[in-house]
Amino acid sequence: MKTVLITGASSGIGKTTAIFLAQNGYNVYATARRVEKMEELKNFGIKPLFLDVTKEDSLVACVQHILTEAGRIDILINNAGSGYYGALEDMPMADAKYQFDVNVFAAARLMQLVLPSMRANKYGKIVNISSIGGKVTLPMGVWYHASKFAIEGLSDALRKEVKAFGIDVIVIEPGGTKSEMTGLGTEYLNRISGKSVYSHLAKGVSKMYATTEKNASDPIVIAKLIKKGIEAKVPRTRYA
Ligand code: NDP
Repeated sequence: MKTVLITGASSGIGKTTAIFLAQNGYNVYATARRVEKMEELKNFGIKPLFLDVTKEDSLVACVQHILTEAGRIDILINNAGSGYYGALEDMPMADAKYQFDVNVFAAARLMQLVLPSMRANKYGKIVNISSIGGKVTLPMGVWYHASKFAIEGLSDALRKEVKAFGIDVIVIEPGGTKSEMTGLGTEYLNRISGKSVYSHLAKGVSKMYATTEKNASDPIVIAKLIKKGIEAKVPRTRYA
């Protein structure tokens, strides 16, 4: 039975994927900060663990716990994400950095922490959840796009580094998907754009996100893509 560590499993894509993989025979460790939102996952045999991906001690403790209990981590799914929208001129740099912390540096640190075990086992699948926003850009999404372009580049370079050890790096690029993120992102955009010289643009983008939210797909679509990616006999780098 393959052991999975998935981040951002307290809602949206992460929670749905954790359940879907557990139902399909995987030993799943689901992680997030809001452990209370992962209680129900226990009904599927999933082990919920606290993890704040921006905290080094939390990352180390989480990986150590799983390696001690399960003996290995076969699959890492870097799904936790942060999406704030707004004009570059308006967004505080602290918020920009936070997005990079969650979407890029935390994912990279987790990869560092699991790679020794994967190399020892000559097997590993690292799944990085990027976005359609990691391929194309829209105004008001500068830091989100920059972080997702970064995880795409990092994944492509890492794939070449680790291939010889039997490890694959898979990139998933979801389109609009039902989750907490779109709502939170729009709320942030509206809050910081009130008096902005860009507020005319913000209004349009906010309307567009509201439409995306309304027409968003069920997260199970992405969960199925992730399963397809980790089970593929002939590796493919991207699933969108
Ligand atoms: P949600 O907002 O529903 O889920 C985000 C998850 O990330 C939550 O479980 C949250 O858990 C976790 N998270 C955020 N910050 C931290 C942190 N500091 N430490 C640990 N966990 C954290 O969004 P989605 O399901 O939509 O997002 C999942 C991924 O999919 C993201 O990478 C996102 O960029 C990507 N994506 C989503 C799209 C969409 O339309 N929804 C489109 C394209 C890509 P908690 O707060 O409990 O810690």
